[in-house]
Amino acid sequence: MRLSVLGATGSIGRSTLDLVARAPERFQVVALVGGSRPQELAEAAKAVRAEIAVVADAAAGPALRDALAGTGIASAAGEAAVLEAATRPVDMVMAAITGAAGLAPTLAAARTGSTIALANKECLVCAGELFLQEAARHGARVLPVDSEHNAIYQVLEQRNLAMVDTILLTASGGPFRTWTMEEMERATAAQALKHPNWSMGAKITIDSATLMNKGLEVIEASLLFPEVADRIDVVVHPQSLVHGLVAYADGSMLAQLGKPDMRTPIAYCLGWPERMATPVGRLDLAAIGTLTFEAPDRARFPALGLAMAALRRRQGTTTALNGANEVAVAAFLEGRIGFLDIARIVETVIERSDALGMLQEPTSLEAVFALDAGARRLADESVHTVAALRP
Ligand code: NAD
Ligand code: MG
Repeated sequence: MRLSVLGATGSIGRSTLDLVARAPERFQVVALVGGSRPQELAEAAKAVRAEIAVVADAAAGPALRDALAGTGIASAAGEAAVLEAATRPVDMVMAAITGAAGLAPTLAAARTGSTIALANKECLVCAGELFLQEAARHGARVLPVDSEHNAIYQVLEQRNLAMVDTILLTASGGPFRTWTMEEMERATAAQALKHPNWSMGAKITIDSATLMNKGLEVIEASLLFPEVADRIDVVVHPQSLVHGLVAYADGSMLAQLGKPDMRTPIAYCLGWPERMATPVGRLDLAAIGTLTFEAPDRARFPALGLAMAALRRRQGTTTALNGANEVAVAAFLEGRIGFLDIARIVETVIERSDALGMLQEPTSLEAVFALDAGARRLADESVHTVAALRP
């Protein structure tokens, strides 16, 4: 299978290439795309004998070229080169750039008709309907990589959609599941980055601590499983072993379980419709003993409710929510705002963009980018205001 990986140096990208390196006879790697870090990208390209490595940061181009000199692997840099790499003919594109930055390359890949293994959930949150319409128009199948959606994809019976009572996404609850508001008010980036179960990129790890990640995932699920969009719910499951469940009208509940290792859902996509063996550890249920579940605490984790409210107001609001959240998370990681400020800033941006009449349903990619940029500007202002008031 010919495969390109967008976000090749990230957590999902590295897990994907790990599986590729273990089964080199199955894959021919075409393009690897990274944001920066040319050395790491060059190493990854050499390890899987990619045809071309592309770095989005144009300034990193010379370093990438030098690192690949004499290897026969081509290199390129800059946004146009990223788009060109994303549209090289392949069977599958792993879309694992983080944030709205992944939208344009992932959309370009979908327009070639390649199967898209979609990890980049922000792409759906900020332009899901447009993205999925374009993918369908060009015959590009979209397979969900996100563990919860992958789980549901595995247990959702297409012939019984009318008999689905509820789709349940599990949430670990993150590192602050049992913390008080006072404790969370003082939480540092280092504390928020210590996810109890999953090892992931920084942005999604902070989203997991605020539960915004689960909110983004409810939006993602509503787009991936539109027939049951009004029946999606969240349950906290601190062990992160059950990833998603579907409850049917006959009283059956089907679930997918596995170790919290993204190589399982990634392999499901890479091998689809067959299954592919992975080195992921197997579950020893007797040793695990207990699985627990609890309702999410929406008062302590307001981001979940903000995302679900944005979903009810549809795509324009989720686009603004996503842009504001990306800015707020970056500001928190830089130590400029507090942990609880993230959700406050998102809420402020939604209120202000609504008051400014910005929350229209975007009907073109340009409109998505304009709304995203407007929300980011409002979020920047909010960050400044909040940061100025901090002790
Ligand atoms: P990460 O931060 O570890 O990696 C992001 C990758 O994107 C890196 O290769 C980076 O260089 C690249 N990148 C960033 N900006 C870019 C740009 N402008 N142009 C090109 N490349 C750029 O992130 P991650 O944890 O691997 O997550 C990737 C995506 O997958 C996110 O959307 C995340 O929500 C989703 N996801 C991740 C996990 C996980 O376990 N890590 C699970 C589910 C979903
Ligand atoms: Mg997930």
